[in-house]
Amino acid sequence: MPELPEVETVRSRLEPVLVGRELRDVEIADSRLTRPFEPAEVAAELRGERVSAVERRGKYLIVRFETGRVLLIHLRMTGSLLVARRGELPEDPYRRAVVKLDDGSDVAYRDVRRFGTWLLLEPGELEPYLLTRVGVEPLAPGFTARVLGERLRRRRAALKAVVLDQRVVAGVGNIYADEALWYAQLHPLRTAADLTDDEVQALHRGLRRALRKGIERQGATLRDYALPDGETGSMQDEFMVYGRDGEPCRRCGTPIEKIRVAGRGTWFCPLCQRQAP
Ligand SMILES: [Zn+2]
Repeated sequence: MPELPEVETVRSRLEPVLVGRELRDVEIADSRLTRPFEPAEVAAELRGERVSAVERRGKYLIVRFETGRVLLIHLRMTGSLLVARRGELPEDPYRRAVVKLDDGSDVAYRDVRRFGTWLLLEPGELEPYLLTRVGVEPLAPGFTARVLGERLRRRRAALKAVVLDQRVVAGVGNIYADEALWYAQLHPLRTAADLTDDEVQALHRGLRRALRKGIERQGATLRDYALPDGETGSMQDEFMVYGRDGEPCRRCGTPIEKIRVAGRGTWFCPLCQRQAP
């Protein structure tokens, strides 16, 4: 699933394509994308809207229109966007929607597993919608170690599960949670509420370090993730732990182990990240 660095990379590539453009025509070929709303109705509503900004909150892409309306896109497992500058899109059985812009380019949405969503919101609806779903942005100035500590202190669950909660840290998913915990040298099964102040500081630094590195590398290219211009990210070549079971820890050489936490495959170094230090 695309996480903060992947969605941010998609956002930065889409921004120059979309901002200032009018949506001339919109075709939505999948009722799951817009449910509970009819895809033809959503497509008709989008026609004629002009894009004023492309933003991101957590794993959500936010396409703002001059009218104040917003198209909120979540790529979920396998959603991706592809831009065809001259309107010549390749054949694709997994294409779910096409947006034709007033400069002749097309933006296609593809989704193999069809968990992605497009939600059209009226002016004023975005903030209340995100408020209950998305917590603080981990790279924003407001995300301090103190803020993180407050959010962890109330939770008796496994640290990894708490870090994955989008209301605790927006945009962190399975990859960057494991990478951040490795940087912080914290075991994924530690009880979140039990972290010392120093450990919270280390986790705060680890989260930012993992996410910034992901953005620098244009995200991780796994399975169906691709950038709107067809390029790929390179973060997958530099994972510290994610997907590396049996391979040597890049810090101490101990083989990386894999366990399950909160139903998710979880990779960690049993020496650097001890459960009871
Ligand atoms: Zn290690």
